[in-house]
Amino acid sequence: MKRRTFLSSTALASLGVLLTRCGFAATSEDKNETQLNAPAKKPVVVSTWIHGMQANKAAWALLSTKKSSLDAVEQGVRITESDAENRSVGLGGNPDRDGNVTLDACIMNHESECGAVAYLQNIENPISVARKVMEDTPHVMLVGKGAEEFAYNQGFPKKDLLTEGAKEAWLKWKESEDLKKPEINHENHDTIGMLAIDQDGNLSGACTTSGWAYKLPGRVGDSPIIGAGLFVDNEIGAACATGMGEAVIRIAGSHTVVELMRQGKTPNEACKLAVERIISKHKDLKDLQVGFLALNKNGEAGAYSTYAGFNYAYTDNEKAELIDAGYEMEW
Ligand code: ASP
Repeated sequence: MKRRTFLSSTALASLGVLLTRCGFAATSEDKNETQLNAPAKKPVVVSTWIHGMQANKAAWALLSTKKSSLDAVEQGVRITESDAENRSVGLGGNPDRDGNVTLDACIMNHESECGAVAYLQNIENPISVARKVMEDTPHVMLVGKGAEEFAYNQGFPKKDLLTEGAKEAWLKWKESEDLKKPEINHENHDTIGMLAIDQDGNLSGACTTSGWAYKLPGRVGDSPIIGAGLFVDNEIGAACATGMGEAVIRIAGSHTVVELMRQGKTPNEACKLAVERIISKHKDLKDLQVGFLALNKNGEAGAYSTYAGFNYAYTDNEKAELIDAGYEMEW
């Protein structure tokens, strides 16, 4: 039996407008058919890039046993942070120009509580420090030495994050002509952002990165900034970003995506409009890769990027797959 009821009378269509404004119901394809009583899909977890497949597995182990979306996103992205082979998140991440690995992360729950750390060194799992900031301090963000001290006081062990592989690549980069030019291109912008809705219908998100490879010392990107790299509004949906953080910050990217969903856009449409906004605010689009990923309160996901190549891992009760995002331009 079909669980979805489609109605298209004028009276109900205007009711549909109301529902749409609440962030539910009609997609752009449904323009003439207002979808009522659509069952919310849950749990669902999505995360950026192919490394999201492994991270989603860890998150799904919790979501499928009715644990909270907050626990799921934290445990999920910790997998990527602890993967020494991954050059753009946590342990093994590319260092800054001077060879220091500095990490940015943030987390946000369904009650709009949030925590973040930026320019954090020597700690393998910044996402868990961000959660501690959220839960154990009156603050939202700690940075640098203060964040590191806080982590030690909370019992996080000190760890050298510069792996041999990352060090070798950095030394090679130092010898190259491109010294002083940080690198961000389609091969190395691999922040993990993860969004989840749990069995209770609550949304949470996490975002964590080692940032722009060989960045200037002190640089902080979008990933730890609530509203830029990540935003969650439990009434509407959640969004996260990857790619050139400077561009994402300029338009308060993830917050923009959530607000567009509040206006009735589907996750896909909202991500596309945010990408178009970024494009309209930049004179030079060369190598300006930015991708947005969104999940709405109905458990529907969508993603979009400036350039081709962005994808995201999607997991629900029926499937676990890697999905290619829509994009504006070919490389
Ligand atoms: N958004 C990150 C930053 O600008 C980069 C990335 O996605 O890898 O720090």
